[in-house]
Amino acid sequence: MNPYWLEDEPIPRVEPRHAGTVDVAVVGAGITGIAAALRLAEGGKRVRVHDGRAVSEGASGRNGGFALRGGASRYDVARETYGAERARDLWHWTERALDRMADLAGDAMRRNGSFRLAADAEERDEIRVEFDAFRADGIEAEWVDDLPGHLAGRFEGGIVHPHDAALQPARWVRRLAALAADAGVEIREHDHVDDVATLDADQVLVATDGYGHGLVPELADTIWPTRGQVIVSEPLDRVLYDKPHYARQGFDYWQQLPDRRVLLGGFRDVSILDELTDVEEMTPAIQDSLESFLGELIGETPHISHRWAGIFGLTQDMLPLVGRVPGRESLWVAGGYSGHGNVLGFACGELVADAILGDTPSPQLELFDPARFV
Ligand SMILES: Cc1cc2nc3c(=O)[nH]c(=O)nc-3n(C[C@H](O)[C@H](O)[C@H](O)COP(=O)(O)OP(=O)(O)OC[C@H]3O[C@@H](n4cnc5c(N)ncnc54)[C@H](O)[C@@H]3O)c2cc1C
Repeated sequence: MNPYWLEDEPIPRVEPRHAGTVDVAVVGAGITGIAAALRLAEGGKRVRVHDGRAVSEGASGRNGGFALRGGASRYDVARETYGAERARDLWHWTERALDRMADLAGDAMRRNGSFRLAADAEERDEIRVEFDAFRADGIEAEWVDDLPGHLAGRFEGGIVHPHDAALQPARWVRRLAALAADAGVEIREHDHVDDVATLDADQVLVATDGYGHGLVPELADTIWPTRGQVIVSEPLDRVLYDKPHYARQGFDYWQQLPDRRVLLGGFRDVSILDELTDVEEMTPAIQDSLESFLGELIGETPHISHRWAGIFGLTQDMLPLVGRVPGRESLWVAGGYSGHGNVLGFACGELVADAILGDTPSPQLELFDPARFV
């Protein structure tokens, strides 16, 4: 198991230490925990982050690197489920988060857009409805019928989202962690937390997404740990994909990296129930499916250099949980991005930090309120 992203050079950072009780302890040093810690420190709080691993070694350093606006559901479905106004607000809110990420990420982010493809006629009809909903609500998107040669015949058109991005997610979160440390955040790596009650802090934020299952027993049945698997090829001699591509309801996703390797993840639906687990290991059924599809995508037998698995948190309504844990005065949560946490994790880390800082309620806090499940 060798996550490609984590092989990147570490980013040096200062190492502040706080004596005694801090204002806020954060469990989890992925995108959520680090974004929250930075925002809290900028708001004047003394913050300590604890992680059983090192910064970005959970899903934040093991994902597909897609930085997509919006929620995990299709836009038209979101609109039907919680109303056009809330859906539009959510999409615009994540667009603003992407803009802030672009300001901070430097060379960890490439703003090339993303390409949502239809794998067959049925999916084409579905995403056409989504596209019409984007148009109706003034959300920028482009419909594409004429696919380039290597996609033509295999896919049935698609939607380009022009402002989405590709991340080197480990570099991005490590860079943000360096900014958080500069702002005074203490980051304790390799510091597993068994019980949040033992943390020396006035308030605690649990930012563990699919990991740390059971740390907040009230939410154990609400955020389901789910496994995703990824492979990466040796560099190709040509560029086939200039932006992140995804199809089959997002079950398959791939992008070509700056060194011309192709990263492919997904095929969770090959054994969907087995993948509802927090066991971070690869399985032959999914690895074989990935390898064979990668061969089709690149038109030759793939030579695989990297493979790994990671865990994300899935929720029943595909919306995150962000806010105070019901019935617990000083315990907060942000997680459950349903496989869509690169932008949502950043935005929700900031959102929960603002709530802890006492800012006024927002439409997103209302939509993501953990109390909806309890
Ligand atoms: C294979 C895969 C592909 C994905 N692809 C994409 C994608 O392309 N685009 C996208 O938007 N999203 C994607 N996701 C989802 C996205 O990666 C996550 O939603 C996001 O990274 C969550 O960030 P986080 O900071 O909340 O959690 P994580 O990054 O998972 O961090 C949680 C941290 O908590 C720590 N932790 C857990 N329990 C404890 C404990 N008891 N004590 C101390 N520390 C603890 C863990 O060590 C971990 O570092 C993917 C996920 C996977 C697994």
